[in-house]
Amino acid sequence: METILVVDDTKTNLNILIELLGDSYDIIAAISGEMALEIIEEEKVDLILLDIMMPCMDGFEVCAKLKNNPKTKDIPIIFITAKIDEESIEKAYDIGGSDYVTKPFKPKELQARVKRELELIKLQNELQLLASTDPMTNLYNRRYFTKISEHIMDLAIRKDESLSVLMLDIDKFKSINDTYGHQIGDEVIISLANELQEHQRKSDIVCRFGGEEFVILLPNTLLDGAQILAQKMRQSVEENILKIKDYTLSFTVSIGVAQIDIKTEKNIEKALNRADKALYKAKNNGRNQVCIS
Ligand code: GH3
Ligand code: MG
Ligand code: MG
Repeated sequence: METILVVDDTKTNLNILIELLGDSYDIIAAISGEMALEIIEEEKVDLILLDIMMPCMDGFEVCAKLKNNPKTKDIPIIFITAKIDEESIEKAYDIGGSDYVTKPFKPKELQARVKRELELIKLQNELQLLASTDPMTNLYNRRYFTKISEHIMDLAIRKDESLSVLMLDIDKFKSINDTYGHQIGDEVIISLANELQEHQRKSDIVCRFGGEEFVILLPNTLLDGAQILAQKMRQSVEENILKIKDYTLSFTVSIGVAQIDIKTEKNIEKALNRADKALYKAKNNGRNQVCIS
């Protein structure tokens, strides 16, 4: 069930909304703007129905605060209000409201608008996920990696924390394709993706960078720690015997490791290049190994 936060300074209005929507959604009620802002810090809310005219903090102010907070800016807001002047309606949309319903509202109309808004946000989330993941492995794709790595860099710089990156590539993958066929090759990539996720900590970002190449971003990790993790991964891949269809096979990976210098580097590019060079070294040294840069 989706959760809707209803905000109104009149208890009767809150009760009407709970009555109308309570069967289909989880409803949280707030009797003031301040209370709404407190609740939103604690609860996961999918949609907000927001009264405009309230004492102390009005609906516009609440909306502006929510839209300014990265954590809450994407929650859709439907204004519910007795204000029907054009200026108010315009302002409601201008500050980021998704929809506007005037009081007294028609119950069926309100229910339909709530349903539509929730469907829209669901669709949007699905699209966002599709655009940021690789359909074969469900790992993040390169596009998303580029975007999220900026945020993670910012965070590391602000918190003065270390940040490392691994670049991993399947050894002699071409011969796996040639020997077992492309379909088995795909299964090998999927199985590696699953294995990498088993090693990942919650904050790590595992991404399929392309073909049989993966990049893993490791927040709060020094070069030494990253190297140890890379060795564990490499070893676990080497020891893993895969059974795919009628075949029994195993494979190895090479990994390049680099630490981002958060004091001097503003983006991830240079560290990625170093990890790539280290990977190249690992390949040249005979593969199935970890090299650092
Ligand atoms: P190296 O040890 O130097 O990495 O050798 P390699 O054979 O793994 O590397 P190379 O880059 O020469 O070949 C990678 C192959 O991976 C070529 C490409 O056809 C194959 N490949 C890329 N993406 C996919 C995929 O999604 N599925 C399958 N089955 N094969 C893929
Ligand atoms: Mg390869
Ligand atoms: Mg390759």
